[in-house]
Amino acid sequence: MTLAITALSAALISSQAIADEPAKPKFAIAIHGGAGSSAANATPEKVALRKASLKVALEQGVAILKAGGDSLDAVQTVIVHLENDPQFNAGKGAVFNAVGSHELDASIMDGKTKSCGAVAGVSHVKNPIKLARLVMTETRHVLLSGPGAETFAKQQNVDWVEPNYFDTESARSSWNRYRARLKKRDEQKDQLKNKAGFLVPNHPNHRIPNLVASSQEQKEAWSIGTVGCVALDSKGNLAGGTSTGGMTFKKFGRIGDSPIVGAGTYADNETCAVSSTGVGEEYIRNAVAYDISAQLKYKKVSLAEAVKDNLENRLKKGDGGLIAVDKDGNIAMGFNTGGMARAAADSEGRFEVIWGE
Ligand code: ASP
Repeated sequence: MTLAITALSAALISSQAIADEPAKPKFAIAIHGGAGSSAANATPEKVALRKASLKVALEQGVAILKAGGDSLDAVQTVIVHLENDPQFNAGKGAVFNAVGSHELDASIMDGKTKSCGAVAGVSHVKNPIKLARLVMTETRHVLLSGPGAETFAKQQNVDWVEPNYFDTESARSSWNRYRARLKKRDEQKDQLKNKAGFLVPNHPNHRIPNLVASSQEQKEAWSIGTVGCVALDSKGNLAGGTSTGGMTFKKFGRIGDSPIVGAGTYADNETCAVSSTGVGEEYIRNAVAYDISAQLKYKKVSLAEAVKDNLENRLKKGDGGLIAVDKDGNIAMGFNTGGMARAAADSEGRFEVIWGE
């Protein structure tokens, strides 16, 4: 009996001690480095190097959040690191468009105030995510594009680079491969035309193999390296951001989902923060990032369910992936492609960097 009472009081004391302990500050962070088939197919050496870079980015984000810093700062810091790394299709490693130049897009959103900022089609800005944040804090607008965005960049004294800064070997060889396929396709078209004198649409002998749309190259056009980050800080504030060079051989002036708030990026303290990667047009059509937040708000489903629904029912197989964190620190990272480069950490000790499936 005495023993039982002693055990009971010991249990009471220890549960009291737990109750008196200050609640652990809660944080969570997730990063993506692009979705697509090549995320699954890259060589082991490339995978190791990219994972090492994602790990550094994750450590930088965690350090800020652990010290009680803001989710917006964690998101920006992570993305700046990845923009400066030529291995990712954002900042330095941005892909080439159809005319052989670079047009970079980025956006950032603050879940506390729903303030957001974005830039599209910039060619001289070293870190588009920094400029996006300045659009958010220094203007009454949400999205600046092209020459106007660059005039604003000059006014804000952000790091300015000449376009050849973005001329990396890997982006150039993707562009050359893509161009070679286009040329081959045109040649086949000409040959068929010369043979028949004309082309009959849908005639079996006049069919031109769709070398561009069906090829692995087309998938590679967007599969490597757009970057994004979502974070919940210890004050309960959510933030998200995304940065990209877009898709190889994209039409000049094309703007993808990455700078479109509600498609490529979204954050709302009441629900979650989201960053997308994939075929931008599909993410815009389906307002994917906002849809996930709306499902949490109005349908009261879990973050995992809302992410799954978007990847399985709204987007088509092969369209891309996304990362999200909700207001309780749950992390969801999903894709409907061969793989996605991603990383996640939280205050409960989770710390992981994953490449591929
Ligand atoms: N979503 C980006 C775009 O369409 C590309 C990507 O995520 O790989 O510009």
